[in-house]
Order: sequence, then C-alpha cells, then structure tokens
Amino acid sequence: METDQSVSPETADLALEETAERELSTGLGRALRTWLAENITPEIVEAGRAGAITPDTLETLRRWNRQLDDAGWAAVAWPAEFGGRDAGVPDQLACLEAMAEQEAPGPINVIGVANIAPAVMAVGRSDQKERFLRPMLRGDEIWCQGMSEPDAGSDLASLSTRAELGDGGFVINGQKTWNSLGQYADWCQLYVRTDPDLPRHKGISCLLVDMHTPGIEVRPLRTMSGDSVFSELFFTDVHVPEAALLGPLNGGWRVAMTTLSFERAGVARLHLGLAARFDELVDQAKTAGVACSPVVRDRLARVYSAISCMRWMTSRELEVVGAGGQPSPAMGSLTKLLWASTSQTLADIGMSLLGSGGLAGPWSGSFAAAPGTSIAGGTREINRNIVAEHGLGLPR
Ligand SMILES: Cc1cc2nc3c(=O)[nH]c(=O)nc-3n(C[C@H](O)[C@H](O)[C@H](O)COP(=O)(O)OP(=O)(O)OC[C@H]3O[C@@H](n4cnc5c(N)ncnc54)[C@H](O)[C@@H]3O)c2cc1C
Repeated sequence: METDQSVSPETADLALEETAERELSTGLGRALRTWLAENITPEIVEAGRAGAITPDTLETLRRWNRQLDDAGWAAVAWPAEFGGRDAGVPDQLACLEAMAEQEAPGPINVIGVANIAPAVMAVGRSDQKERFLRPMLRGDEIWCQGMSEPDAGSDLASLSTRAELGDGGFVINGQKTWNSLGQYADWCQLYVRTDPDLPRHKGISCLLVDMHTPGIEVRPLRTMSGDSVFSELFFTDVHVPEAALLGPLNGGWRVAMTTLSFERAGVARLHLGLAARFDELVDQAKTAGVACSPVVRDRLARVYSAISCMRWMTSRELEVVGAGGQPSPAMGSLTKLLWASTSQTLADIGMSLLGSGGLAGPWSGSFAAAPGTSIAGGTREINRNIVAEHGLGLPR
C-alpha cells in the first residue's frame, strides 16, 4: 500500500483535532493524563525512547512498570480481578493517547500483556491465571512468545518443535527463532507439535515454559540496527510438567488464534507512535534549522495524511464497535500495512532531512528497524492476502 493518500493537510488537521478531542474526552483518559503529569520523569521518558529494552534501561522500565501497576494503569483493558480496569475500547484508546502524548513507556511485557495474557484468561486454568497474570503485569517476570521457527513463520501450522508427553510430563526438542525479549525472558508461551500423526493444525499444543529449565539455550540475535531485540531458542530434552499445558492437548491452534486476534485497540494504537515520531522529526528539523525543500514538504504532508487516515480508520471501527457491530476482519491488516509503509517513509525522510545528524542520532535506529515493520506481526503479503480475501471477497 502506498502512503500517497488523496487527503489535504487542512482536512487532515481538522479530523485529527476532532478525533483527539473525542478520544481524550473519556474520564479515564483525563485521569491518566493527570496522573502521568505528576509521576513521569525525564529518566523514564529517556529509557522508553530506545524502543527496545536494553540491559541499561531494564531496571528503570521495570520500576516504572510497577509504578503504573500500583496506580492501576498498567493494563486498563484487563479485567479488574487481574489488576486492570475493565476499560472498553474508547477508554483504552484515550489512555494510549495520554501515554503517547507524554512519551510514557508502557509495561515491559508488551507481547505478554497484549497477547499472551488474554489467551491465559480465555483458556487457562484458575491456577495458571493466579500464578502468571500478576507477575506478568508488574513486569516481575518477563515473557516471550515462541511461535516462529526457521522453517515455520507465516505458515505457523508447519511448526516442528516436538513435545512428547510421557509419565513425567513433556520432553521438548527443537528450535524457535525471532523471539522478542527472548534473552530477558523468564517464561515462554511455546507452540509445539504434540501429535505428528494428526492433521497439521490439530497436532499442536501450547505450553507455558519456565525459561530457566535445563536444556534451554538462548542465543540473542543482533539486527542491523545494532540492537539485540530478539533471540533464537534451542530446546534439547527439556522436561516440563504436564501442568505446563495451556488449553487442551492438541488444541494449541485455537490458543494461537486467540493470542493473535486479541486486543482490538492493539492495532488501533499504531498511529499514536507514528504521530509522536512525526512531531519529533518536525521539531528536530526546525531546531537544526534544516532547509526543507518543496519535495520534502510534500513527503511530510503525505506522511501526515497517512497518519490521519489511520486515525480515521480507528475512529470508524470504534463507531462500529460502539454501535454493537463487529469490526471488519480486514481493518487490522489494512492499518498494519499502512503503519509499516508510513514508518518506513518517515524513517527515510528523517535520515535524508537530518543528514549526518540523522546518521548519528536516533533516526539511524528507526531507519534500520523500519524494514522489520513489514514482517513483524504478519508479513506484508499475508496482510494483503487477508485484505483481498476478507475485505474484497476475492478468491484465495
Ligand atoms: C521485529 C520482529 C519481531 C518478531 N517477534 C516474534 C516473536 O516474539 N515470536 C515469534 O514467534 N516470532 C516473531 N517474529 C517472527 C515473525 O512472526 C515472522 O518473521 C513472520 O511470521 C514471517 O515468517 P518468516 O520470517 O518465516 O517468513 P516466511 O513466512 O518464510 O515468508 C517469506 C516470504 O514469503 C512470503 N509469503 C509467505 N507465505 C505467503 C503466502 N501464503 N502468500 C504470499 N506470500 C507469502 C512472505 O510475505 C515473505 O515475504 C518477529 C519478527 C520481527 C520482524
């Protein structure tokens, strides 16, 4: 998808203001803004700016995570019984907007809180909910997600990491890759093949695995941004108890779909990060006194328009959900596609606009990380397939 949208910056401006007013007008959003104004510090903002956790920022972000949790702001979407506030989608968005406005980092367990926890809540036993949810929300225990393998990414059902169930529990052998937070993780939501004789989707199970178990080797992967944001995980005769099973034996496919489809506001919030980076770039360019040619102005206006479109798409979905309807199946994919292409264009403009200043500064990190946005959470082609089939009704 191109970022070239036929929307004038003036129209975009108006809509942006209207949407912001509506989102921030929820009581919960206003309460969070007040709390943040009193609690956030420059050190916390700086630690969050790096994007990915590093050994230097981990403890600052963990302390902040606990502070958020103590005040009930770590996951407003979660049910109150697990430490959330039962917030509906408009309140979730208002809170995300308030966080983005003050550059407040969210909980360190990004995947855990947004994806793994909802699956635990949906299909977990009561002892699993009790054991795992609170430490996950506080950031006391870090979680990673083990889905992808060297030969199983988009086609997750072809995964081959094996777990054999015997008298003493499961024995796991195999390899996972691209595990975000893998090198920090205490626990892994791991997808394994438990019955190779069943059809592909039916022989998979989900296990909650203690990453400190003997036989697990974690190898951090360094990307071209210079960071180690994810790891490879190797499992050699790893013994885990039968109680590690999340959901039914051989019912892991359903758990995976629950995990991936959860949190409607997850995709909806993508524009917030982009809007913050856009403002940052414009500020930096102004401060540096960079001459902005008509060509660059045009590119910036297109990015601005694309971000506005993402906000409108979010608002439209909210209206539908608010009126009791179902969100469009293709909307998440469309928003993700637009987010990826806009992230890449913005990083590219940042680098070319700031010249050597961009190379030395944070824009080099954004630039190097940007291609990954076309892959993470479903590749561009897979999302286009979803839009084609579920949005346009085209044949497979
Ligand atoms: C930043 C980042 C974080 C990640 N974090 C995690 C994580 O925490 N846990 C985890 O398990 N994984 C994670 N991943 C992995 C990610 O989920 C996979 O990379 C992704 O699913 C694609 O799989 P693959 O890399 O094996 O590519 P493949 O699936 O092998 O795809 C290769 C190419 O073929 C195309 N293709 C594949 N199938 C089709 C099709 N049916 N139609 C058209 N084109 C197709 C793809 O679009 C792609 O261009 C992460 C990836 C990134 C970039």
